[in-house]
Amino acid sequence: MNIAIVGSGYVGLVSGVCLSSIGHHVMCVDNDREKVKKLRQAQVPIYEPGLEELMVGMMKKKRLMFTTSIKEATKKAKVIFIAVGTPSKANGDADLTYVENVAREIAANMNSYKLIVEKSTVPAATGQRIKRTIQMNLLKKYQQGKGKVDFDVASNPEFLREGSAIEDFMKPDRVVIGVESKMAEDLLREVYKPIKTKMVVTNINSAEIIKHASNSFLATKISFANALSQICDRVGADVLKVAEGMGFDKRIGRSFLNAGIGYGGSCFPKDVDAFIRLSEKSGYDFTLLKDVRQINEDQKKAFVRLIEDKLWIIKDKIIGALGVAFKPDTDDMRNAPATDIIQALQCEGAKIRAYDPEAAHNAKKIMKGVTFCKDIYTMAKGCDSLMLLTEWDEFTKIDFKKIKQSMRQAVIFDGRNLYHNRGLEKLGFEYYGIGRGV
Ligand code: NAD
Repeated sequence: MNIAIVGSGYVGLVSGVCLSSIGHHVMCVDNDREKVKKLRQAQVPIYEPGLEELMVGMMKKKRLMFTTSIKEATKKAKVIFIAVGTPSKANGDADLTYVENVAREIAANMNSYKLIVEKSTVPAATGQRIKRTIQMNLLKKYQQGKGKVDFDVASNPEFLREGSAIEDFMKPDRVVIGVESKMAEDLLREVYKPIKTKMVVTNINSAEIIKHASNSFLATKISFANALSQICDRVGADVLKVAEGMGFDKRIGRSFLNAGIGYGGSCFPKDVDAFIRLSEKSGYDFTLLKDVRQINEDQKKAFVRLIEDKLWIIKDKIIGALGVAFKPDTDDMRNAPATDIIQALQCEGAKIRAYDPEAAHNAKKIMKGVTFCKDIYTMAKGCDSLMLLTEWDEFTKIDFKKIKQSMRQAVIFDGRNLYHNRGLEKLGFEYYGIGRGV
């Protein structure tokens, strides 16, 4: 099938590459000329394991192309996915400007039946608005004497995770499609035919809500674990054991019950905000989610307070950050908890050094006054403490004996409980985790 994907970022590019790898002819569109230039030269603008190899293979087979022109892509494709960003506005609403612009441009260039599919995360009823936008633009065309064309709008929220995006796309837990016609359902079933998984078919509004509800629920689990960690610290319990004990209960499950420095990234914070706003507008005050958001903010502050408490005077102390990305296996710095934590410590006069295997180039653009080092050992030299902010696998292989000798003080703050059973205390470190009863 001829498919177009508008927006070639973390979601659009991965979706495009994966859809071409299951046999479709895909044209990825982006209005960032530099990005498209790079992509045409087979350069991947983001860090995503396995993406480059697959992308290059698909380009060689001529099943994957890149363009800046929505016109070119619309004319050729039958199914057009919208995968542009839907960032937060200051009031928490999802900013749907890019979605509207794309819908308008698609409408202006429709030459035959098209199925327009929202893949971006959007609030409920966005599909109806896209439909109206396209109808209004088509009407203008008809008034100018142009022939009638049919179209459908559908929702197909994306659940891939950065860092394991290809695996998630090719082997999803489920594919959700929100449709209003048999034609739209059949086309989307055809698109996903080679992917063997459960397909949830529903109306557009429900599909849109499934995505917001899923991300909000996962954020709720994280905040629950973080709230637990606060209690554990106060009463001398161990949050890891509590989560383990809870997690064996099949109704609860162990995943996402991880206490740490809070969730971040381009999705959870903005999607929780957008869901709160959607609820407010519909007349329901989703206080539970407001607390989820507050607990997340408080958790970062609690981590900074722990560091201040244990290091005593922060001014001029050298603190080394192990990782800055919002999670491992990505270079994405959007809403990374590291940003707020580092800024708070800098405000107290700390000197921050950092090492991240992949995110340093993006972090440098937003973190001022941080010295980025080429490796962990260079960073640790002379540090008064280390703080682990991202649980990269590389950090499980550190030679702590070597590091300890080069540090001014052997103190470690483990914001992800990565070193909980590695015996750092035995090596002479002062070790502080999250919710470990200290
Ligand atoms: P992104 O910022 O990485 O990519 C968006 C791309 O759209 C950019 O390259 C931008 O240049 C392009 N764009 C914007 N306006 C355009 C236009 N008019 N024409 C063509 N291209 C245009 O964003 P992302 O992380 O890929 O997220 C996209 C959507 O998918 C968001 O709604 C997000 O919430 C959702 N989502 C993201 C993830 C994730 O892990 N990143 C996972 C699931 C869903």
